[in-house]
Formats: sequence, structure tokens, C-alpha cells
Amino acid sequence: MKRKGLKKPFTYQNPLIIPFFIPHAGCPFTCVFCNQWQISGTAEVVRPDEIDAYVAAYLKRARLHQDRHVEIAFYGGSFTALAPEIQTAYLQAAAEQQKKGRICGIRLSTRPDFINRAIVERLLAYGVTTVELGVQSLVDEVLQKTGRGHTAQDTLLAVELLREYPLQLGLQLMLGLPGDTPDRACLTLERAVQAAPDFVRIYPTLVFKGTTLAQWYLAKQYRPWSLDLAVDTAAAWLGTFSYYEIPVIRIGLQAAENFTKEQDLLAGPYHPAFGELVASRLFLWQIEDGLKRLRKGAEASENKGAGGPGREDTGKKRRRAPGESRGDEEGERGVLQLLVHPSVQSKVIGQKRQNIMFLREKYGYNVVVLPRSQKYRRSDEEIWEGGSATRSGEKPEAGKDGENEVEDIEIRTISQAILIPRKEFLKKYRIEIKDATLGERNEEAGVSEATGDPRV
Ligand code: SF4
Repeated sequence: MKRKGLKKPFTYQNPLIIPFFIPHAGCPFTCVFCNQWQISGTAEVVRPDEIDAYVAAYLKRARLHQDRHVEIAFYGGSFTALAPEIQTAYLQAAAEQQKKGRICGIRLSTRPDFINRAIVERLLAYGVTTVELGVQSLVDEVLQKTGRGHTAQDTLLAVELLREYPLQLGLQLMLGLPGDTPDRACLTLERAVQAAPDFVRIYPTLVFKGTTLAQWYLAKQYRPWSLDLAVDTAAAWLGTFSYYEIPVIRIGLQAAENFTKEQDLLAGPYHPAFGELVASRLFLWQIEDGLKRLRKGAEASENKGAGGPGREDTGKKRRRAPGESRGDEEGERGVLQLLVHPSVQSKVIGQKRQNIMFLREKYGYNVVVLPRSQKYRRSDEEIWEGGSATRSGEKPEAGKDGENEVEDIEIRTISQAILIPRKEFLKKYRIEIKDATLGERNEEAGVSEATGDPRV
């Protein structure tokens, strides 16, 4: 889906953000999950007259490419809900940096119900280039239980209005809020895709001390989502947004200095590498889809070999399904070779080799993950003796290949949301799945080694 509309002031390309957190400032609401002081990791609100010196020092420290896009960002509160004179003071200070040529843009985050035509035009007058809306959910029941104080319709109206102006639009979304379910998360996803933002951020709901949610949690009135469910859902969101070419620029909260399990975080699906887990899960799904295709190819060739209904059995040996051990060589596993783009190799392997272990356990494969330029060699199998490897010539470390790591893996799927992205992601990252032991058989059966698709 390509959004029609006005030309944007710049192309979104990994800008350098100079963030200014304004925790809770200006916000008259108390969303049950929110404690902006903890999330931003700071108790000091930057003053407008401090911005000049701060930006100068920040740019001095940063190593900038000549054409790097630099922006000032006002995060943490609801910027457009601040008193107008305070907004003006911040915007003037930021606009001054733009005049000095230090920055190219200004971005800010705010609530959907604090957007109207007069507000947007004021922002534009000061050179604001990006507005991020704290959407959280697009399901009214969830918004209401969360104490957001606005409806999904308020968000959609704000999106529609912002779309009339040459601004970049970002949506900040949460999963696992009170009242949220995987089905409701799918609805939020669907509506967010229809809103066609320029980018999104995805956050799992965490329980911070000092929030209403913490009280609910302690009173057993709210149960956070498990890490696995949060990863599954975020993976479905990531896949779907990617399919619609909507960049996901952040998945999971960044750990601030005081943001640790022991201090501010009480409960919830927190992981320091949450985004990595999500991407890895998505890759696992793509691999499993590839395996299904291989399986179908093997079954088709088996039927063909058996002659099909009404035909005589040709007497050919039955073809094994992917991963099935060879009956005459008991215990020997098939080898699944994953040829991947080097930039995604670690994500395909997964944190603590989770994906590798999962595939080995579920499908009985020895899995080899290689850059696409490398080919599997028979000698690799001998070197690793049934283990798995990250690259040619490297033997896995002892103990990392243990069976006990597999027990933690539990896969759930939200099939409505991932049907399309599963296929598209495989293409997008150009993962090629090749079953080394199935390859020869597929050759015979007229099935492509690279994709497992029947040749037409
Ligand atoms: S609107 Fe934003 S800043 Fe205000 S309470 Fe809710 S999450 Fe916190």
C-alpha cells in the first residue's frame, strides 16, 4: 500500500536524533501504564535556554557523516498539550538550531486528541517536520481500560488531519495493555496499516513501579503478557508493517540507566534485546513456511513415484519427509541449509541459537546457516558431527548445543496477521531454504532446490 498525499519535506533515512525528554510535562492524563520519569531515565526537564549548548555539545561528540540528517526531538510528554508559551519557547529554541544549520528537522510526540488545525499550523511555522502520535491501541475497549481518555476515532481523525500537511507521521503502538488480546492486537495492526504512517514504533506493555498498572498487577487485576506472546505478536506486527513498506523504527523500550528489573520495572515482557527476539521469531516462521513447501514437494514426488491412484507401483524407494531419519542409517539427520544475507545471519540463528535448536528438535534437522555466497560441503557435516554451525569452518562451542535450551521455546501463531508477511518476508530478505538431503530427490522430482516450489 502506497500512501497518496503531499510531498514530504525529506525522505526518512536513519536520522541522528538529539532527544529532549519532557517527562509527563503538560499531560493532564494518567494512563495506567505511564510513569514517564522512569521511562526517560531522567528527573530533569531540559529548559529551552539550555538547548543551544546541549545541541552544540551533542554534535561535537557525535561522529557525523557529512550528509547525516540531524533532528531535535521532544519526547516523553504530550508536547502540544503544554501551555502555548512553553511550546513556543521550546520551538523557538529548536528553530534557532535549524537557522544555525545544526539540525534539519524537529520532531515531537503528542496525543491524538491534542492535534487540531491551529496546532498543526503552529508546528509547521516553527519548522516541525515529524509528529509522532501516542496511539497505543486502536481498540476502544483497550483505550478505555487503559485510561487514555480518547478513542480510536480521535486517533484516526488526527491522522487524517496531519495527512493534509507536509509532515512525517509516526505512530507509537503498544501491545498487551489492559483488555488487549492477540485478536485485538490484530485489529490495532489492521487499522494502523490503513492509517499508512511513515513509520511506527512498537512497545510491549511493561509494569513500572509507581503506576496504576503496578497497583493492578500487585492486586492481581492485571496480568502482563508473557515474553513469548509479546514476541509473537510483535513479530506479526513487524512482518505486516514491513509487507506494507511501513518502517518499524523501534521495537521495545531502550533500557535507561535506572531501568532495570531491580529498580523501576516490576513485571512484564522485558528483554534487553526484545527487537532481536522479534526479528528472529519472524525468520523462524519464514523457515517453517519454507519447510512446509519442501514437505509438499516431497509428498508430491512420493505420490508421483508411487504411480498415484489406479497406477501400478513402480517399486521405487519411498521418499523421506524433511528431517526424517534414514531408516538404514539409524540416527542420521537430514541437513537443512539456510542461505541468508549476511546482515540477517544472527537473527536467523536467534538469541542463544534458539531458532537452530528449535528446528533441530522439531524437525530433526542439523541446521547450517551460511551467507548466501557459501555453499554447503559434505566435509562440513563431518566436522560438526551432527551439531550446527554459524559459518563454514567454525565448530560450535561445547555446551551451546545442549538439548536443555530447547525447552524454553514455545511457539504460538496469530495466523490472520502473518499469512501474507510470512511469504513476503522470505522474499524481502532473500532467504533461500535448501534441504541438502532433499535436494537430490527434489531434482529428480522436478522441484526447485532453492525454493522448494514445483517447477512449471
Ligand atoms: S498521555 Fe502520554 S504522558 Fe500522558 S499519561 Fe498518557 S502516556 Fe503518560
